[in-house]
Amino acid sequence: LFISFEGIDGAGKSSHIEALAQAFKASGRNVTLSREPGGTPLAEKIRAMVLNDNMDPLTEALLMFAARRDHVLTVIVPALARGDVLLCDRFTDSSFAYQGGGRGFDTAVLSTLEQWVQGEQSDSSGLLQPDLTVWFDLAPEQAAQRLLASRTPDNFESQSLEFFTRVAQAYEKRLIQDPQRFARINADQVREAVWTDVKAVFVAKRWL
Ligand code: C5P
Repeated sequence: LFISFEGIDGAGKSSHIEALAQAFKASGRNVTLSREPGGTPLAEKIRAMVLNDNMDPLTEALLMFAARRDHVLTVIVPALARGDVLLCDRFTDSSFAYQGGGRGFDTAVLSTLEQWVQGEQSDSSGLLQPDLTVWFDLAPEQAAQRLLASRTPDNFESQSLEFFTRVAQAYEKRLIQDPQRFARINADQVREAVWTDVKAVFVAKRWL
């Protein structure tokens, strides 16, 4: 099982990924936890470059997909071959949301890169894609409030509300293109209520 988690900064996905890992382990499954950008030593180096250095959108997109290529080959494909439950904090939808929506990079080029990186890893004619993508849907205004309250020292403050509005809209577009893959979670609730909704998705699929 390949499950990815998506959402704008501040949507609060991390604690739920951790809780799901515990729940799957308790049900006897082997769990691999990973994240993007990153997830391998090489991809983590690329993550540090992409998050700390300024670069043009094409350079950023190429680095993101280079990191993903290494991650797919060395972590994702082997984990799925072992039969693990693979929980991945962000995957390709983030590229469409941030590089595409946020920075306005050409989504046709992103689709080509997606095909290169994930195409040949699929056993059918399609792409290697998550079996399920949990999207923590939070209004950009709410996300900004949460991040300012927690004073997280990430690159959020350097981005405008307009930027995150475009990111959120790009997520919505991905969901509309592939609705079966997505579970949309209302992240504008207290943590316990979000967790109840997340868990319900997995129980309904009989995965937990
Ligand atoms: O989810 P996480 O906090 O690990 O993401 C780190 C940062 O990387 C976020 O601030 C997000 O804005 C950024 N990011 C990005 N493009 C991606 C994935 C993440 O700009 N494709």
